[in-house]
Amino acid sequence: MNFELTQDQKNLQETVREWAQAELAPVAYELDKEGKFPTELYLKMNQDIGVASIPFKEEHGGLGLGTVEMSLAIEELARADQTFALTTMVAVATGLTLQQFGSDFQKQTYLPDIVAGKAVGSIAGTEPQAGSWTAGFTTRAKRTDEGKWSISGEKAFITNSGCDLTSYNLIAAISTPPEAEKSKMSLFLVPAGTPGVEIGKSYDKLGWRSSDTHPIYLDNAIVDDDAIVGNEGDGRYIVHKTYQFARCYLSACALGLSQACLDHSIAYAQDRKAFGKTLGGLQMVQKMIADMAVKVETSRLLARQAAAKADAGTASLKELAMAKYYCCETSSEVADLAVQVHGGFGYMNDCPVSRYLRDTRITRIGDGSSQIQTMIIAREMGLEVDFT
Ligand SMILES: Cc1cc2nc3c(=O)[nH]c(=O)nc-3n(C[C@H](O)[C@H](O)[C@H](O)COP(=O)(O)OP(=O)(O)OC[C@H]3O[C@@H](n4cnc5c(N)ncnc54)[C@H](O)[C@@H]3O)c2cc1C
Repeated sequence: MNFELTQDQKNLQETVREWAQAELAPVAYELDKEGKFPTELYLKMNQDIGVASIPFKEEHGGLGLGTVEMSLAIEELARADQTFALTTMVAVATGLTLQQFGSDFQKQTYLPDIVAGKAVGSIAGTEPQAGSWTAGFTTRAKRTDEGKWSISGEKAFITNSGCDLTSYNLIAAISTPPEAEKSKMSLFLVPAGTPGVEIGKSYDKLGWRSSDTHPIYLDNAIVDDDAIVGNEGDGRYIVHKTYQFARCYLSACALGLSQACLDHSIAYAQDRKAFGKTLGGLQMVQKMIADMAVKVETSRLLARQAAAKADAGTASLKELAMAKYYCCETSSEVADLAVQVHGGFGYMNDCPVSRYLRDTRITRIGDGSSQIQTMIIAREMGLEVDFT
């Protein structure tokens, strides 16, 4: 068993780390305060170091690397700004969905700009009345007389759905008629600007403030017959597949933030004086920092194992769920400890760890909440779990 990264992986990690610490970390506070999607910075990152191209096949302009390499990049971005890492992660994950399931036309039309980092896409499952309960989605696609599809419904909290760079939204909609015995979902590629699609006002969020999050209202939005990604009726399967590799990436997002909390806490504890020594010389502060370090290292092992197994095609649902669950739950704990180590300053908005605490809270809710992950883990161990 080899736990070492290859030299190429270390080089990639170093490149992204240097870029993120030089270009992203210094502006993260302002991005959070402004709450505006950083279009120029996203373009710059991809021009400078091509992060968005990492996991795509070379025939689409990608670097042909894997989940491990993309996760390393996301971890380094998140170490500077988890919100920016999340934006990148969603853009890449929706692109990978097209690469894996899309038609030649969809790939040729939309992938080049996603891979070049000039465009982003979204994947819209969640609705106002149903998030975890995917069987409760009601957005519906109906056949038109002209052989097209008309989609109506509402999606909630959709990342990357309405920024300058959004080129498409992947919309999960029921595509069987209301009278069908069993309803089936399909995933539709809805190009930005499609008539009948209204992107609602940006949400005012606790964290991830500079990520782009909107509701999407669809009222008789007409798309062509070939707008379905993959086969008609396979939407649920494709969305779940997307969530599965997104779980590796979200684990890396949480891990990168936890590492940043640890970095800041060690530096602060070595500098700040109390009771005639540094904070780092006080045993109870040492305990907090040691606890953080153990959680960071365990997260890293689980996240890297999940990514490596995803690339080898051997990742089980249980391993993916465990990585997502553990990395995301502990990133809140680690961020909370980091605030504690920083004392009153840790509560100030200009102290990075206060932002980290706000940002990472959502990782326990999105992309399959912690409760849903524990249900998957329990089911995969043979317990009776009902997802209907
Ligand atoms: C900033 C942000 C970005 C997002 N981006 C996207 C996106 O790009 N695309 C997208 O589709 N969605 C997105 N979401 C939505 C997110 O995925 C959902 O919020 C999440 O899946 C939870 O769904 P919900 O909000 O409807 O909560 P609910 O499903 O109503 O759950 C509420 C609570 O009940 C718990 N719960 C639910 N069911 C069970 C159960 N059976 N057993 C035990 N506990 C249960 C949940 O864990 C949770 O704690 C985003 C959300 C946010 C806040």
